[in-house]
Amino acid sequence: MIDLCPREDCTGCMACRQKCSFGAIHTEVVDGFEYPVIDTGKCTECGNCVRVCPVLSQSQTAGVTHHPGESCIAAWNKDAAVRKQSSSGGVFSAFAHKVISDGGVVFGATFGDELYLHHECIDSLSGLGNLRRSKYVQSNTLNTFNEAKRHLADGRKVLYCGTPCQIAGLRSFLGKTEASSLYCLDVLCQGVPSPYLFKQYIGEAESDTGIKVDDCNFRTKKYGWRGGLSLLLLSGQKNGKRRALTRILDKNAFYNAFIKEYFMRPSCYRCMFKNDHLGYYGDITLADFWRIGSKVPLKVSNYEMGISAIIVNTDKGRNLLEECSPQLEMIERTWDEFSTNDGLRRSHKPAGNDEAFEYLQHHSWEETQKKFFPLSRRKKAVTLLKLLIGERNLFRLKRLLRR
Ligand SMILES: Cc1cc2nc3c(=O)[nH]c(=O)nc-3n(C[C@H](O)[C@H](O)[C@H](O)COP(=O)(O)OP(=O)(O)OC[C@H]3O[C@@H](n4cnc5c(N)ncnc54)[C@H](O)[C@@H]3O)c2cc1C
Ligand code: SF4
Ligand code: SF4
Ligand code: SF4
Repeated sequence: MIDLCPREDCTGCMACRQKCSFGAIHTEVVDGFEYPVIDTGKCTECGNCVRVCPVLSQSQTAGVTHHPGESCIAAWNKDAAVRKQSSSGGVFSAFAHKVISDGGVVFGATFGDELYLHHECIDSLSGLGNLRRSKYVQSNTLNTFNEAKRHLADGRKVLYCGTPCQIAGLRSFLGKTEASSLYCLDVLCQGVPSPYLFKQYIGEAESDTGIKVDDCNFRTKKYGWRGGLSLLLLSGQKNGKRRALTRILDKNAFYNAFIKEYFMRPSCYRCMFKNDHLGYYGDITLADFWRIGSKVPLKVSNYEMGISAIIVNTDKGRNLLEECSPQLEMIERTWDEFSTNDGLRRSHKPAGNDEAFEYLQHHSWEETQKKFFPLSRRKKAVTLLKLLIGERNLFRLKRLLRR
């Protein structure tokens, strides 16, 4: 009898399912997340699924650790249009551009039918737009680890971008076949909410408005880099016409829950793959360089276009960054400045999380928000000010008022 890792630790990386050559693992949705389940009728007990599980084989996959005193690179893409379409500085696109130009392939997360988030492989620049931008939902890796393995065997460069647990899963899955032509990028990860609760949220927005939503942008820069986080841009069809739909304040309940750390995958609350635990898993880690300039002054005129933080973890990562440097503006900053990023710590499960989850099964997102995680008047006022004048000007205003 084969036991996969305990459900509360299972990250859903799906390395086990992709490794099983007998098709003996299927997935089941439990409390809004997909989990692997073994079909005992098909299982030969070969043990491969257990061997590749990054939770059960942590020692094979542990990454490097960073310390205060080290540096961290602030960077952004020189192409203003690419930067605008990205979450922070658009550095993922610079890496992807380089690998595709060298004849390689790139894996990242994209919305499919019914806004189901999954990983996909692209080999041309025209597909890059769909992979850009952080989507705050769990992405299904589908069969991409096998695809990556095949491309590596064909001698192609492979760039795989995902959460640290997905990268740990891929590395464990590839084992000895991991090649010098594999480049892994992990994103600094606060955690991933349920794709099924997201579907419910989108369904409610559709019933409110009559728009059939087919696109979602969590990271619009229409109102600045951080300001844009306070609203969700949806778009879709109504009466044969393309319509945009902006969700803000109480209507942005899905994102408001994410920020308060509600409804994350259980493994996120006990994450073994976050950088502060066992080290970093990607050759390079990507993040938003929030609060850059707050400790050591930084003069950049285009702050609101977004600035990424690049953390180099391996020599391979350093070489790739070097190769991409003509496409990037880069400034060396201190680790201390970067380390104020909330994404470095593990998310805490709110006390009312499970009750709110139950409540949401029978109530709307807005009703659940009102009862469990309401927005205060102050929060609403600050959000509106941030949107109107930008985050930096809001900081300046606060400083002036304090004097
Ligand atoms: C779920 C999640 C939580 C994050 N939390 C933080 C945080 O707390 N602090 C912080 O500083 N940064 C966080 N980030 C990273 C940050 O938002 C940016 O991804 C990063 O700054 C890179 O931006 P970019 O402009 O270079 O690239 P972008 O063009 O924005 O590229 C983002 C990359 O992430 C991939 N991606 C998008 N969504 C997912 C997903 N759900 N699962 C796996 N891969 C995905 C895309 O395919 C793409 O490769 C998070 C990202 C995600 C996906
Ligand atoms: S033990 Fe082997 S056959 Fe059984 S589920 Fe795992 S990988 Fe598949
Ligand atoms: S390999 Fe990934 S999906 Fe499978 S049991 Fe382990 S953590 Fe869960
Ligand atoms: S918080 Fe940890 S377990 Fe959750 S998605 Fe991120 S890396 Fe994976």
